[in-house]
Amino acid sequence: EVKKKGKNGFGLFSRHLDEELLQKVEMEINLRKAIEHNEFVLYYQPQIRPIDSRMIGMEALVRWKHPTKGMLPPGMFISIAEETGMIYELGTWVLREACRQMREWHDAGGPLIPVSVNLSSQQFHQTNLVAYIRKILDETGLDPQYLELEITEGMMMDASVSTVILNELTALGIRISLDDFGKGYSSLSYLKLFPIHKLKIDRSFISDITNNDSDKAIVATIIAMAKHLNLEVIAEGIETKDQLDILMANECKEIQGFYYSRPLSAADVEAAFFVPMRLV
Ligand code: C2E
Ligand code: MG
Ligand code: MG
Ligand code: MG
Repeated sequence: EVKKKGKNGFGLFSRHLDEELLQKVEMEINLRKAIEHNEFVLYYQPQIRPIDSRMIGMEALVRWKHPTKGMLPPGMFISIAEETGMIYELGTWVLREACRQMREWHDAGGPLIPVSVNLSSQQFHQTNLVAYIRKILDETGLDPQYLELEITEGMMMDASVSTVILNELTALGIRISLDDFGKGYSSLSYLKLFPIHKLKIDRSFISDITNNDSDKAIVATIIAMAKHLNLEVIAEGIETKDQLDILMANECKEIQGFYYSRPLSAADVEAAFFVPMRLV
């Protein structure tokens, strides 16, 4: 059935747009309140060395503890935070909280492992990024070697700018990992230009790896390339034993995925990993 058009010819269409816009504006207002009221929490996903099942790091992943809608994943608000500039404030909070929490865990006798923090493109290009990260490290007392920043290929389009920023960050002792590796369009020559410590193989190559020979070949190639370039490599999104077996057969030394653990609240991290080490 062909719908009758409104008087401007876009009746139905524009009503949808209005609703969408309204939802977005509402989200924006709520997000602003959420920042004021501190409604964010960090979850931590363990990164595991499969050969001995030891935790070798954790990725901090932000959640919005919404007063009525429950725990909202970053997919529902990060892009709005980016579009509205709220990402600066949110991102700073994330960095500070991740560093504070990791230092607290180190002090409590937890394993001396780094925390990885995702950076948005805007944050990465913020002029005072290096200065405020140094300040956060100072204030929280986290040794820079225990902070890892996750950036994506797309952020390094302007090679000369990126080189300066990355060199400053690594000079502080901070580690850099390239998130969602293989998903972007960047040239591999970046890998020799930039001081990067680790590649994180994008989850999209993993999800079907047991059936898809192309994915398997790509993953094997990334791991081999990383080895030749002296880069660490971690596979993201491992959910099954079969996937893990393929990664291990290809000598992938680090794994992050639901197979080992979902992202956990700080309390659950402590219960699952640190209990024996804590002074009661
Ligand atoms: P990401 O950095 O690639 O983080 C990994 C995402 O994959 C997380 O989703 C994690 O829960 C999910 N994941 C891990 N293992 C598995 C698995 O085995 N199976 C499946 N299906 N998923 C898995 P999450 O927490 O929803 O975060 C989504 C994205 O939001 C992140 O992707 C990251 O790009 C962004 N993000 C999260 N926290 C922050 C933050 O503090 N700042 C910024 N700028 N971005 C963030
Ligand atoms: Mg990440
Ligand atoms: Mg990311
Ligand atoms: Mg990723």
